Amino acid sequence: MVFFDLDDTLMDYTAAMRTAAAVFWADHLDLFADHSIDSFLTLWESLAAKYHRQATAGEIGWHDQQRLRMQELYKLSGRELSPAEATNEFSRFFDVYRRHWRLFADVLPCLNKLKAKNVPLGVISNGESLQQHRKLQVCRVEERFQAIVISSEVGLHKPDPAIFRHACEQAGVKAGDCLYVGDQLDGDARAAVAAGLHGIWLNRAARPAPGCDVETIESLRELPSLVGIGG
Ligand SMILES: [Mg+2]
Repeated sequence: MVFFDLDDTLMDYTAAMRTAAAVFWADHLDLFADHSIDSFLTLWESLAAKYHRQATAGEIGWHDQQRLRMQELYKLSGRELSPAEATNEFSRFFDVYRRHWRLFADVLPCLNKLKAKNVPLGVISNGESLQQHRKLQVCRVEERFQAIVISSEVGLHKPDPAIFRHACEQAGVKAGDCLYVGDQLDGDARAAVAAGLHGIWLNRAARPAPGCDVETIESLRELPSLVGIGG
């Protein structure tokens, strides 16, 4: 069986997020006049990562993290937002963001080849259940996966080996018979290895990684030929 990460592995999360954040910046130039587009995106990504991490760990709710990061963004520009205003502002971003949900070009060729080999497919993703399922639906691939495990559904999140084991149990497969591919070296590939799966790092940007101790690919086009290794 082959399990995939979702964001920045199947779906180009970063492109959708940056496009929507850039539109948000352009619509609020009066407020963020001190920022170039690049510095605004850096700030946006750092706030998104900070609150996403807290929500993934269960420290705050998924909807709270949307509001809180918007409130902090505005506060850094000297303006306080009420919870309702922050929620409203986030939805302005989100409307653009979700209209840019797209698969990477190498996803469907890869899924088609694996399907032709009768390889069962799954997803293991950190995130909020409804939103992650919607991404798969909007990208029209949800029905291709026999097992979809989202962290908010199971109260476990990567890199905890338990979420990988949970997914294997749910799918009725042994961890050692599974591949797991994701864009994070530690949070995906090494975490999967720690859980007994054959972890593969999808290094799309071909970032140098001296001493990398896990199997690495730069495109999902390379994945089907690796399936014989573990699943
Ligand atoms: Mg990812």
